[in-house]
Amino acid sequence: MSEVQNEYYNVADIFGENVFNDSVMQERLPKKTYKKLREVIEEGKELDLATADVIAHEMKEWAIEKGATHYTHWFQPLTGVTAEKHDSFISAPMSNGKVLMSFSGKELIKGEPDASSFPSGGLRATFEARGYTAWDCTSPAFVRQDAAGATLCIPTAFCSYTGEALDQKTPLLRSMEAINEQALRLLKLFGNTTSKKVTPSVGPEQEYFIVDREKYLQRKDLIFTGRTLFGAMPPKGQEMEDHYFGAIRERIAAYMKDVNKELWKLGVTAKTQHNEVAPAQHELAPIYAEANIAVDHNQLVMETLKKVAGRHGLQCLLHEKPFAGVNGSGKHNNWSITTDDGINLLEPGTTPHDNVQFLLVLTCILKAVDTHADLLREAAADVGNDHRLGANEAPPAIISIYLGEQLEDVLSQLISTGEATHSLAGSKLETGVKTLPDFMKDATDRNRTSPFAFTGNKFEFRMVGSQDSIAQPNIVLNTIVAEAFSEACDVLEKADDFDLAVHDLIKKYATEHQRIVFNGNGYSDEWVAEAEKRGLPNIKSMVDAIPALATDKAVSLFEKFGVFTKAELESRVEIEYETYAKEINIEAKAMIDIAGKQIIPAIIKYTTELAESAAAVKSVCDADISVQTGLLKEVSALLAETKAALAKLEEDTAKGGAMEEGRDQAVFYRDVVKADMDALRAPVDKLEMIVDKDIWPMPSYGDLIFEV
Ligand code: ADP
Ligand code: MG
Repeated sequence: MSEVQNEYYNVADIFGENVFNDSVMQERLPKKTYKKLREVIEEGKELDLATADVIAHEMKEWAIEKGATHYTHWFQPLTGVTAEKHDSFISAPMSNGKVLMSFSGKELIKGEPDASSFPSGGLRATFEARGYTAWDCTSPAFVRQDAAGATLCIPTAFCSYTGEALDQKTPLLRSMEAINEQALRLLKLFGNTTSKKVTPSVGPEQEYFIVDREKYLQRKDLIFTGRTLFGAMPPKGQEMEDHYFGAIRERIAAYMKDVNKELWKLGVTAKTQHNEVAPAQHELAPIYAEANIAVDHNQLVMETLKKVAGRHGLQCLLHEKPFAGVNGSGKHNNWSITTDDGINLLEPGTTPHDNVQFLLVLTCILKAVDTHADLLREAAADVGNDHRLGANEAPPAIISIYLGEQLEDVLSQLISTGEATHSLAGSKLETGVKTLPDFMKDATDRNRTSPFAFTGNKFEFRMVGSQDSIAQPNIVLNTIVAEAFSEACDVLEKADDFDLAVHDLIKKYATEHQRIVFNGNGYSDEWVAEAEKRGLPNIKSMVDAIPALATDKAVSLFEKFGVFTKAELESRVEIEYETYAKEINIEAKAMIDIAGKQIIPAIIKYTTELAESAAAVKSVCDADISVQTGLLKEVSALLAETKAALAKLEEDTAKGGAMEEGRDQAVFYRDVVKADMDALRAPVDKLEMIVDKDIWPMPSYGDLIFEV
């Protein structure tokens, strides 16, 4: 365990010190350049090369002061993690043999990484092999300091030669434009003339596990796949002695302190940290930010959690289900829509107009989520999350919305009589419109089992996987809500009597989409049956979720708002099937390796020792050795079962690997290979409970979870 030095500092002094943020730009850039850049950021104007040159120069000077030797375009290909390619600032040596440090506007705004190794789902094959990165000036550049030195990181989008998105950021930015445009249309109808821009705000709560690095290194399954592929649950309580907890607190607290400091320097507003349900599980939540920045920052949070763990002799596990039988990890994507002058469209508000507006926004969201439940479900699909969704710890694979008692009551009044005349007890908020009800400003009640819950002034999408990028859920949310706003505006812009039309529309949407609202226990079996009656989709695996991306409904939605082309959607479908098959294939191969090289040899050693000691006992005193022989028989039977299951897994993994990439291959991995993996795990986990701890070739669940 590393020595942790106590260090005290003022957060305000270090916050954002490694970020080329607005105040740095204001201070360092010539006035004219700064003004031009603000126009690009705020009004989406084009950046000219001369301005880019000035910015690049200042950015470089600033970065060099922070010790930077290299710069990189930092982007988010469809691998789920970020990618970068480092170039140093040095230019060709001059005649005197010295070098200058240079960085041009061209290098700032455009890069050309070797794109061939990133997934493109056939996009580059059909068009052009190259990929380009383009500076996203709406997310600030930053200097990352680590063992590799200091590097200027420039957030970029990643596209093909013909402009197809090969990343997460491009469609996210497009979806933000879509919701901006449609929300402004809607606000205008309500007489708002002051708001110039509407932005989705996102606050992702990140769950993770921390284990001891020495122990982690003894688990090939964790190293290769991020989760344990074998492992019996420890008898609870036995290992949970108080001193373990004392130690956990010290070590984890020192780790968290370090993580926070790193994040603050990068301008990430790490705010809340606490222990989670499972032992060794924790959570980190930042203060919400604009969707684009929140997505970038969440990547930085994940990178920092992993990097800092190493310094403390720890390992951070971001996998959704590192331990079977122990609660897994997710990410809660808190989402709201806010204007540049501070109006949150999901805040019930205090003026009559705002309340009608709120009810319209709310019912538009009901409509959007009901219509595109399959897309939201898909946005939360990743290989690891298949272990969580539908199990008793995370929302089921059925999308529903929790509104809270009061809002649900308001809706049901609207639906049943067309008029809502009262609201349930609580602090009232006057709507001032006769036909609309009064309701409580704060829905204080919470429902932790809902995948999509209204929590006061935001929605919380609770299905997202812990290691997945939050880009996709936000792309989907922004676009489906943009569509609902757009369709509402189409009606309302033509209405003769706006008040009447908006009332009718709210009632219509509430009535047509009430099936998506569910306030009960989302983890119960009754809900699964009820949801089926209501016709809500229950999509249990990633493989079954993927097709939602490229249905006619999805293509027309995304093309209408310029978020994805059909080709881009089809490429993503292809990539997701490939990813699924590849990840399960890696897990299967890791299992084969561990079972063949570590577990079976250990069991053979154990049985040999057992047999020898039984024979020795017998030869000395002719005692009753039925316990030993019984054990020997039991272990040998399980060993035979293990060997047979291993052979079957080897055979099917080879079959799967030989199949052509695509849906059939993914289905084969899910239905055949995964079943083989379960069949291999079962006898091994039984053996772990029997065989001597000294002989077992890797740390147990108890060692990993309780002894951090
Ligand atoms: P919880 O009770 O679910 O933990 P918190 O109030 O702690 O809720 O918020 C959790 C996350 O939601 C934080 O990241 C927070 O910044 C974010 N959040 C709060 N308000 C909003 C909002 N209006 N829009 C988006 N995210 C928000
Ligand atoms: Mg929460």
